[in-house]
Amino acid sequence: MAKISINLATGSFQKEEIIVGIDLGTTNSLVAFINPEKNPQVINDSGKGILVPSIVHFNHQNEAVVGNEAKEFLTTDPANTIFSVKRLLGRSYKDVADHAAIFSYKIIDDDTDALVKIQAGDRFYTPIELSAEILKELKARAEHALKTPVNRAVITVPAYFNDSQRQATRDAGKLAGLDVMRIVNEPTAASLAYGIGLDPSEQKTIAVYDLGGGTFDVSILQIQNGIFEVLATNGNTYLGGDDFDRAILNYWIEKNNLDLTVVAEDNILMQTLRLQAEAAKKALSTQNLYNEQVGEIWCTLDKQTFEQLIAAKVEETITACKNALKDADLTTAEIDEVILVGGSTRTPFVKQAVENFFGKKPQDNINPDEVVALGAAIQADVLAGNRSDILLLDVTPLSLGIETMGGLMDVIIARNSKVPTKAGRQYTTSIDGQVNMKISVYQGERDLVKENRKLAEFDLKGIPAMPAGLPKVDINFLLNADGILTVQAIELRSGVKQEIEITPSYGLSDDTVEKMLLDSIEHAKSDVEQRMLIEARSEGEQLLYTAERFIEKHAEHLTEKEISETKVHIESLKTALSSQEKDTILKKADELNEFTRPFAERVMDAAISTAMKGKKIE
Ligand code: ADP
Ligand code: MG
Repeated sequence: MAKISINLATGSFQKEEIIVGIDLGTTNSLVAFINPEKNPQVINDSGKGILVPSIVHFNHQNEAVVGNEAKEFLTTDPANTIFSVKRLLGRSYKDVADHAAIFSYKIIDDDTDALVKIQAGDRFYTPIELSAEILKELKARAEHALKTPVNRAVITVPAYFNDSQRQATRDAGKLAGLDVMRIVNEPTAASLAYGIGLDPSEQKTIAVYDLGGGTFDVSILQIQNGIFEVLATNGNTYLGGDDFDRAILNYWIEKNNLDLTVVAEDNILMQTLRLQAEAAKKALSTQNLYNEQVGEIWCTLDKQTFEQLIAAKVEETITACKNALKDADLTTAEIDEVILVGGSTRTPFVKQAVENFFGKKPQDNINPDEVVALGAAIQADVLAGNRSDILLLDVTPLSLGIETMGGLMDVIIARNSKVPTKAGRQYTTSIDGQVNMKISVYQGERDLVKENRKLAEFDLKGIPAMPAGLPKVDINFLLNADGILTVQAIELRSGVKQEIEITPSYGLSDDTVEKMLLDSIEHAKSDVEQRMLIEARSEGEQLLYTAERFIEKHAEHLTEKEISETKVHIESLKTALSSQEKDTILKKADELNEFTRPFAERVMDAAISTAMKGKKIE
């Protein structure tokens, strides 16, 4: 289903607005899109690099810088350099208090607010605001690299994120000026990047092992009919590649006979050694020995020693995998695929441990630190409607409604509504004793149904005869995720009911949708004028009908003069109605209404006293 965006200022439209995929990571964030060759591709804005460290630094003017530029301040200005903000998203101080020591910046626990704030300089920031800074940077990079505005995104979150963490991510996106089309689970995105789940007939159970910089999680997913169900998740939000770096650092301090507390006081030295440790770790993913010197300090490490240093941590991740399988009630043999995600799975020892545990070679041919963003881009492409092979309906491209008096379109489900969706409205009859009601369903943006596309028509039959305006007919529209519209009409007093099913997208090409939207813009002004005239006419006609019936039925309560004067008002309303002038119609209708109001009250009083006479009051 195509998504078309219209620039309201110019009335022009853009058929293929790019929706980007964003991996908002604890350590690194990145953005990807689907390139013109239809392949997912990560964005490297003018060689600035693909990964943007998820770090924000504030200077004295409270101006923010993000990424590698901010990373440099980790040593020189740690109090105003915020990292790992993802761990604080949607969290209360209580949630993070146990780990507060690892944050070099100030986390505020104000009793008034359930959620944490972070202090930098003289200002307080919510994790949402800080995440928004990172997203703004990604948005700017994407716009610069793609040379087009980027307003919409799919953002990924860990599968274990709760509602408030997901909402916080959404809010961060909004704050960064992004319309967040969907929040997608990171393991789901990773599967999509490997092409798993794209074929709706495919049925698979997979394990996604994600070891990043500071967090580890494993998710067991069941994929069926293109739907991803998370069967179980497990992990540790304080376990990751940073722990490997720390283990190496401690090892070097010991080997060089240094005192950890002394080194720890020297921020610059600490940071230099930590970066050196990370470099060693990365090098050992492809070589057997690392050998460097920092001043007097020897930074030497061989692969075997490194593996001993991290063995216990890696074992912890395997225990988490066991627990996840147990929760999902599955054995390793029942896992069809294992996917590796996160930069730390580049370490061969980690890869091997995962392979040993699951008893099969994990999928690792896509860059583990890019795979989530690439999958998010694929999801974005599906939402943009560019993949007709997958039915992942998101919004309805045209409004759906019914015809009301005078041939007007009454919209029940508006264009761009998220599906599945449900909406309804109440209607009534316009003629006394009306027993049938014709319900015509239309699709389109024009005010007059005759300019829209007719989808179906049916009669609600068997409404008990009642005065006009008394029956209550509920019309409900139900649009399911497969794009099937169920229209239900029910008269509430009698319970008579009628229902039909329609497929609104049937036979509707992208070009048709486009044309319909363009037409609606072009005719917007004249449509509004017509609608107002029709509404005035309907109102006038309805009043005419009631007034004529009234003087006929209740002549006994009216004088000759009153009747003749009412008739004069009726005639001038009739003339106005044939004039097609909205204001005249409304004016004449008003006059008739005002003139007859006292009669109506009199009739009502008479009716009440008649009713009272029949009753004995003692
Ligand atoms: P996150 O999902 O937490 O944002 P990433 O998936 O980007 O994190 O992983 C970052 C971690 O991956 C860091 O600890 C980094 O040192 C580690 N890493 C990156 N490249 C390698 C490599 N070649 N070998 C081992 N670890 C690596
Ligand atoms: Mg990650």
